[in-house]
Amino acid sequence: MATSYFGHDEWEAVAPGLKSLDDARWLRSHILGAFEMAELATTPAERAAWLTFVVVGAGPTGVELTGQIATLAHRILPRDFHDIATRDARVVLVDAGPSVLPTFPEKLRRRAAADLRGWGIEVRTDTAAADIDAAGIELRDPDGGVERIATRTICWAAGVKAAPLAATLAAASGAATDRLGRLLVQPDLTLPGHPEVFAIGDMAAIDALPGVAQVAMQQGRHVAGTVTARLTGRDAPPPFRYKDKGTMATIGPRKAVVDAYGLRIGGLLGSLMWAFIHVMYLIGWGNRVITMLRWLIQLTTQNRSQRLVDVQHAASWSAETSADRVGGR
Ligand SMILES: Cc1cc2nc3c(=O)[nH]c(=O)nc-3n(C[C@H](O)[C@H](O)[C@H](O)COP(=O)(O)OP(=O)(O)OC[C@H]3O[C@@H](n4cnc5c(N)ncnc54)[C@H](O)[C@@H]3O)c2cc1C
Repeated sequence: MATSYFGHDEWEAVAPGLKSLDDARWLRSHILGAFEMAELATTPAERAAWLTFVVVGAGPTGVELTGQIATLAHRILPRDFHDIATRDARVVLVDAGPSVLPTFPEKLRRRAAADLRGWGIEVRTDTAAADIDAAGIELRDPDGGVERIATRTICWAAGVKAAPLAATLAAASGAATDRLGRLLVQPDLTLPGHPEVFAIGDMAAIDALPGVAQVAMQQGRHVAGTVTARLTGRDAPPPFRYKDKGTMATIGPRKAVVDAYGLRIGGLLGSLMWAFIHVMYLIGWGNRVITMLRWLIQLTTQNRSQRLVDVQHAASWSAETSADRVGGR
């Protein structure tokens, strides 16, 4: 998947998305560096802007990201800084829709919003991003009121579209695409008129399925079955049917909402179930045991070993500070 800015591609430079490992690394450096820059700031306004973090889009990615930023600010970083109180960081979650986690049941949506607010996160639903630049974001409420928030960190978690390869395949094969640019595939997950070409996962649209890992994994297994059947001369498997196992989202280190296997739970129990299911999907017992040990150490020590700011970031900010200017990514 790629990031969609709903016609405002110019926002990408100042409000990057979170779709790849590189994006995640960049964002980690940026967020950790923002606290460092706040410590160096020479005016209260500059410090406040560095300590303000805005995430646009309150789906699972936005909710999990704001929860992680709040965890950093409240639990992990306070002892590392002396001139700033990292707990004063302002974390704002913005969504144009009426609630967070819109695909979850109402009860879990309310619980997630309450948990986020409990962390001190400002949850601004029914609020749209009206304009974004390197120095801040303008928010528009349903009454048309506009508020500007000065911030140096904006993450765009609001829109997705298929990777460019989907458009290339559509052009080459004549296959139609949906509004996210995903290829409309046949019930056996092939492109129309091209039984030799399969499209699955985030790149394919079938039965209005969401772009989640379970869909991609089940489709992968289905295609493997089809290819094996063709190679061995057996009958093709029946058309693809998705088995929905549910959805989950974490909100902080000990809180998650889970709507899976017929259960609808939140809080610590949800968090334990989230951890258990994710660990079981890792490959090999070695990975599972190491991951559980790491999480246990993080939970008990409130520490994160991955507090790395990469060299490019540090260099760009040091240049910026010496030039005494406000800029973006
Ligand atoms: C921040 C984030 C959090 C998520 N959290 C969850 C979650 O908690 N639970 C969940 O179920 N899902 C989650 N998802 C969604 C999930 O990651 C995807 O639905 C899933 O990875 C889709 O699998 P895929 O194989 O279709 O695509 P991908 O995992 O994106 O793999 C596609 C691969 O193809 C490569 N590629 C693209 N174009 C080309 C090309 N032209 N040539 C060669 N290679 C190419 C890409 O680099 C990529 O490695 C999350 C997604 C994001 C971005």
